[in-house]
Amino acid sequence: MYDVAIIGCGVVGAAAAQYLARRRLRLCVLEAENDVADGTTKANSAILHAGYDPAPGTLMARLNVRGAALARELCAVLDVPRKETGSLVLAFAPEEVPHVEELYRRGLANGVEGLRILSGEEVAALEPNLAPVQAALLAPSAAIVNPWEYALALAENAVENGAELQLNCPVTGAQPLDGGGWRLHTARGEVDARFVVNAAGVAAQRVHEMAAPANFRTVPCRGEYYLLDKSAGGTVQHVIFQCPSKEGKGVLVAPTVHGNLIVGPNAEDADSTANTAQGLAQVAEKARRSVPGLDLSASIRNFAGVRANTDRGDFVIQWAAPGFLDLAGMQSPGLTAAPAVAEYAAGLLEEAGLVLAEKPAETLAVPRKKIRFRELSRSEQAALIARQPAYGRVICRCETITEGEILAACREPIPPCSIDGVKRRAGAGMGRCQGGFCSPRVLEILSRELGRSPLDIPQDKAGSFILTGRTKQAPAKGGEAQ
Ligand SMILES: Cc1cc2nc3c(=O)[nH]c(=O)nc-3n(C[C@H](O)[C@H](O)[C@H](O)COP(=O)(O)OP(=O)(O)OC[C@H]3O[C@@H](n4cnc5c(N)ncnc54)[C@H](O)[C@@H]3O)c2cc1C
Repeated sequence: MYDVAIIGCGVVGAAAAQYLARRRLRLCVLEAENDVADGTTKANSAILHAGYDPAPGTLMARLNVRGAALARELCAVLDVPRKETGSLVLAFAPEEVPHVEELYRRGLANGVEGLRILSGEEVAALEPNLAPVQAALLAPSAAIVNPWEYALALAENAVENGAELQLNCPVTGAQPLDGGGWRLHTARGEVDARFVVNAAGVAAQRVHEMAAPANFRTVPCRGEYYLLDKSAGGTVQHVIFQCPSKEGKGVLVAPTVHGNLIVGPNAEDADSTANTAQGLAQVAEKARRSVPGLDLSASIRNFAGVRANTDRGDFVIQWAAPGFLDLAGMQSPGLTAAPAVAEYAAGLLEEAGLVLAEKPAETLAVPRKKIRFRELSRSEQAALIARQPAYGRVICRCETITEGEILAACREPIPPCSIDGVKRRAGAGMGRCQGGFCSPRVLEILSRELGRSPLDIPQDKAGSFILTGRTKQAPAKGGEAQ
């Protein structure tokens, strides 16, 4: 029997696993998909929010600020790209200025440091491409991060410290055991655990209902985005928000850690990650309010994520039933809050009787360090190629990602099994052509490394196959087709 079984390996499940795997526990993580971070965690604004937005006294407020501080440490130790750009919330009209002042007061109450209200002139000096504004709230501690690499690094660290990760393992039911604990029914058999942590994202209500009648209602809310080419990456230096409304934090324009520009999201009640012409048009119109000259012809990709909003208006961290803990309602700022949610959840588990004895420091995994070829100096690149020639073969030309980096990804504690899995780990396919050139090469390498037929390598989720069979070969001159 496991001490703890975590259902779901998005950033919240991964953070819980990372925290608990450092303790002397038998821990497993059950993930429905073929990879970690393949739900909302891979499709969001990628902001580590400063913490002025949630109403003081809420769990979101408390865990946002603490989570942002923990994320700073974790990203440093786990070598996850994070950049402290700061953020601005714009007040375009005089009637929006009180909004900005309210956010300032909330921020102070929540313990956010360094907040300042800037005049229109100060904003124009900082960000010349913005529309004229009356005022703006500057939050210097807001940061941008690579969200899926963050979750992946947390999950890898958990695995290295002894957590057992089972992919392709949807939990389909739960039943209390006599004497305490739970039996989880999964597509890969039964799993018994003393404690269960429900970190199933948008599906958390469904998982809750496996253990108890629902006491919160999920209202999935889609947000759509444009991702712009690096040529547009310098349009703004800060994360640019608009004044929040009941529809959310408004449409943002922000740099990404990869040097692109992200624009979005809108907010529409929908449980689908499909993009719509109407949604994207809304995003474009609202974004141009902030950046009138925004050039959306530089868009290289659209995507959408689904917020796990609930009727509670706060994170839903509660005991669904004895021994069955919900980490639900993880709407924004869930990415930021994740490590603080993990810490808080561990406290609840401890109060309920789980012993959290730390493992000796010398037995824990060493800090993660990734080789990013294009960030090395010329002499470092040459030395690396001399040691490992695979780093001399560039597979993704847009992003200068080498075969060496893809091979390294294949040898990580949680190797990829899909083309997009390689993209999330090594960055191949992230660039202007979005994998148009490198996907066949990546497929070939994956097939070789995993010892699997190319026909069995999906684009992303299970079943999203690229190759479906062999075509008949063209007949040789004078010969028969084979
Ligand atoms: C449009 C948008 C913008 C956002 N922007 C930000 C932002 O800038 N900053 C921020 O802090 N937050 C942001 N968020 C919120 C943030 O993305 C989420 O809070 C966070 O990703 C939630 O992580 P999670 O682990 O709870 O969910 P997910 O990442 O969805 O993970 C849940 C996992 O559970 C698995 N699962 C589901 N059911 C089962 C089952 N039965 N058995 C096994 N596994 C199961 C799923 O496959 C999935 O992998 C945004 C969200 C959206 C949608």
